[in-house]
Amino acid sequence: MTHLSLRERARLRFHGDRAPSIEELIAQPKPVEIPAKQPKAQRAPRPFIMGPIDAPVKELPKLECVDCGKPLVGNWKGAYPKRCDVCRPIHDRKLRVAREKERPPRDRVNYEPIRCAMCGDTFKPPRRDAVCCSEACKMELKIKRKREARARARQMGVTNPS
Ligand SMILES: [Zn+2]
Ligand SMILES: [Zn+2]
Repeated sequence: MTHLSLRERARLRFHGDRAPSIEELIAQPKPVEIPAKQPKAQRAPRPFIMGPIDAPVKELPKLECVDCGKPLVGNWKGAYPKRCDVCRPIHDRKLRVAREKERPPRDRVNYEPIRCAMCGDTFKPPRRDAVCCSEACKMELKIKRKREARARARQMGVTNPS
């Protein structure tokens, strides 16, 4: 056995006498076996049963709109509105108005009089961030600022400033 190479000896040890020689292996390469994919086990479909067939038919309570008396139709979740679609917004508005009346009037803060940014008149600002004395001044200031921005853009080389 001493004349066999280490590789040959290992091969014989692994395969025994039935082992094909390396030359045979090279001549006829074994096709690589790809294991077939096993289909994934599937869950049985769930039976679609709503309830016992002989169960008594659920009577839906008959409801009427609190305000106009029109019959209401409930949904399957069991939620029933109190009012019809016509009366609900009216009722909501009434509630909102009542709540507004209940609320104490907002405290008016007295700000120091300032000068209008557009016309320069002195006026008492109703809000902290007020800049102009009137809506007209506000619009004018807006237009003026837009014009200035456009001029600046033209100076910087924008050909078609929006
Ligand atoms: Zn109604
Ligand atoms: Zn003004």
